[in-house]
Amino acid sequence: MGVTLDLSRASATPIAPSKPNLAGMTRAELQAALVEAGVVRPEKAKMRASQIWRWLHHYGVTDFDRMSDVAKETRAAVAEAFTIARPEVVERQVSRDGTRKWLIRMAPGVEVETVYIPDVGRAGALCVSSQVGCTLNCTFCHTGTQALVRNLTAAEIVAQVQVARDDLDEWPSPKEDRRLSNIVFMGMGEPLYNLDNVAAAIDIIADNEGIAISRRRITVSTSGVVPELKALGERTQAMLAISLHATNDALRETLVPLNKKYPIAELMAAIKAYPQLSNAKRVTFEYVMLKGVNDSPADAKALVKLLAGVPAKINLIPFNPWPGSQYECSDWGTIEAFAAILNRAGYASPIRTPRGRDILAACGQLKSESEKLRASARRAAARAESPST
Ligand code: SAH
Ligand code: SF4
Repeated sequence: MGVTLDLSRASATPIAPSKPNLAGMTRAELQAALVEAGVVRPEKAKMRASQIWRWLHHYGVTDFDRMSDVAKETRAAVAEAFTIARPEVVERQVSRDGTRKWLIRMAPGVEVETVYIPDVGRAGALCVSSQVGCTLNCTFCHTGTQALVRNLTAAEIVAQVQVARDDLDEWPSPKEDRRLSNIVFMGMGEPLYNLDNVAAAIDIIADNEGIAISRRRITVSTSGVVPELKALGERTQAMLAISLHATNDALRETLVPLNKKYPIAELMAAIKAYPQLSNAKRVTFEYVMLKGVNDSPADAKALVKLLAGVPAKINLIPFNPWPGSQYECSDWGTIEAFAAILNRAGYASPIRTPRGRDILAACGQLKSESEKLRASARRAAARAESPST
């Protein structure tokens, strides 16, 4: 489908003095902020914070005037000091397979992509970004070719869920039979380099009187930031996914350069110590299938050996190519042979079908193409403005 671009916004818009966004505050922070701003009396703060919380996170309102059980003067005072506005959705695309992708502008020059992947029945997973760009340069990942712009705030992470819920028409927060049933931190960026904001966002998203997506349905994917793994487990109780991609240090160093700092043995030890690991709460190992690089039967056997004793699931990701990438996706037969070895070792259906490739929403394709299109659209607009050059 066509890509819509609004060139009127391509030039820099003036930055409005931004008020703090209530949607990114945990319950405790919300309560404290209301008191500190002098808009709520301390003795009423807990009750007011609960009311506002429900409007924000259960009903998904974007207008203070809808908070009908909050006194009018209080509403006005809160609106004066804070915002609950959504960021701007610059682009929305829907794939033939039902995958949806939103390009969201958090601030001028700060844009992220969020992807909704429908699953069986009504359920589906939202793939959220934690940073704009990434510092880690994994050689098969398009996001890694882009410099880090900045960490996203908790409000900006929560906003991705709110935008998806708006579009899926899923307010007030349903108790069951949800379309947005799971959340994966597998978009742009390394979540463990932004753990404070990721942990706060998870506290907000998992709260029972709000968006209420349980921590068991929230997965954080990391390229292996070993010193942060324990804190991730303790602070979020989220499910863990590890981008492994290779079973020996020599190869993993070329794919995931962070392996030079935290080699496989250290990574595996930290994974085994991940809080609450059990057969009911397994670690997902992601393994991107690169033709002739890591896809031989010997690699599959080495993977089985490496994961022995770890409660694990394996996710084989067919490589999604991008312009200029130095790898090719393994042949389908090779992927199936690799999966068969894992199957025999007891790992069920490990191949992840690529979704949303037609709108560049698949793993590792995020952000870049829209940036490229937008840059070319900007050049076209510049030419139109100065036709003599
Ligand atoms: N930075 C985190 C989370 C985002 S990446 C991490 O690396 O885990 C989400 C997943 O997509 C990772 O497993 C990553 O290795 C994988 N990925 C990146 N580029 C890819 C590509 N071009 N094709 C397939 N998977 C890719
Ligand atoms: Fe960053 Fe993850 Fe891409 Fe590596 S795979 S560059 S850690 S986003």
